[in-house]
Amino acid sequence: MIIGIDDTDSRKGMCTTYLCAVLVDELKKQGDVSTPRLVRLNPCIPFKTRGNGAVSFEISAEKEELVKEVVRARVSALSELNEEGTNPGVIFIGDNVLNTISDEQEERLKHFYETAVRDVLTLEDAYAIISGLRLDHFGLKNKRGLIGALAAVSFFVLQRNKPNYYDFTYELIAYRRKERRGKTRVIDEASVWKADAATYPLTWDTVDVANTTTVFAPHSPCPVLFGIRGDSEAAIYKAYGLIHAEPVERKMLFITNQGTDFHLIPLDVATKEQLREFYSYGLDGVVCSNPRTVEGGHVVFSIALSDSGTIECIAYEPTKGFRSTIRALRVGDLIRVYGSEKNGTINIEKIELKQLNNAEERNPRCAKCGRSMKSAGQLQGYRCKRCGTYREDKDVVTVNRAIEEGLYEAPPVARRHLSKPLVRMRAANKKIHPSR
Ligand code: ATP
Repeated sequence: MIIGIDDTDSRKGMCTTYLCAVLVDELKKQGDVSTPRLVRLNPCIPFKTRGNGAVSFEISAEKEELVKEVVRARVSALSELNEEGTNPGVIFIGDNVLNTISDEQEERLKHFYETAVRDVLTLEDAYAIISGLRLDHFGLKNKRGLIGALAAVSFFVLQRNKPNYYDFTYELIAYRRKERRGKTRVIDEASVWKADAATYPLTWDTVDVANTTTVFAPHSPCPVLFGIRGDSEAAIYKAYGLIHAEPVERKMLFITNQGTDFHLIPLDVATKEQLREFYSYGLDGVVCSNPRTVEGGHVVFSIALSDSGTIECIAYEPTKGFRSTIRALRVGDLIRVYGSEKNGTINIEKIELKQLNNAEERNPRCAKCGRSMKSAGQLQGYRCKRCGTYREDKDVVTVNRAIEEGLYEAPPVARRHLSKPLVRMRAANKKIHPSR
């Protein structure tokens, strides 16, 4: 049986991954339990608490009813039900359904998961699948968590027989002891830097070198002490072994869709009308206004989309040094921007500089005296005031650029869970400039 859970936490405490870890450990008494999955869904969803995460795991147990009872009891007891935005949902896909699932039903689960990451769903969308497959389920309050729970089980079903069906990464999350929660986290910083140095790039986003800070521990009162992310289980456990910190209550390894860019909808040819709020895109365009720094330190410029219209792009102040790359853009650069759309602006997560505009038009120089010629009026060419020589067009000169072509990204301090760190693209046939 596969079990999916979502929407149990609030900003004041708890974490759905913790509830999952508690259940996985507890249910081992009832049968074999798989490595749980942690899926990050649409990062722009307004109902999210933090990272819009949902979880799922599989258990082979004889007493399925007992397992369901334990899950329902734990979700009811541990969810932050007094908080307004907490609306738990649990989905059970029993072996009877898993063993008889048709290609068409699997296709519907695939569509649901992919839509949950990239698009916006309603509870009715979830209920349509729940009733179509006759799935046992459980919800509290407005039950919105059923959306995330169904997305998490769908991811599991697709990955179950074909582990490489979707790109995936790992995260090992360490959880705090009850008496420590809410207090300052005790983590020996030096050991974290050592652990990172010993395992990067097989682990990533533990530290941010350029901003001299660790980024693997939250600052909220939730039970998470820290999480180590990466592509290799062995490297993650090695890093874990090198970190000195307060004693933990438990730890759990998750298979995740973090760091995969699965939220991005690639649009090779885009029009402004196509772009919608709460969606994340990869968009081709040509820089059509030079970047400018606005109040708050954010950097803004516009691109002309490949089909029609222009759209504003922004690198927010928290993206720190990434803004230097953005400031170095100039009109005429051919780029691809990656990020989500909000209020008609793309919030840039990464950018590919495909072709830099090295050409600059300048007033021509006089062939006789070498001085810069002046405009003779609109559309009337250029004239040397001294010698009277005339030229019709400007000179085109090649300028040196402070940046080079390739992929650039926001630093780990400002990285979204789903954003693929460039270091994960090192095998791809592209020039990458990882931020670290
Ligand atoms: P945390 O990361 O701390 O676990 P969270 O950020 O995951 O918290 P939730 O408490 O899970 O936030 O709230 C997100 C809510 O949005 C859930 O009810 C989930 O079912 C719903 N949801 C997730 N993705 C979508 C989507 N694409 N369309 C509509 N609703 C969604």
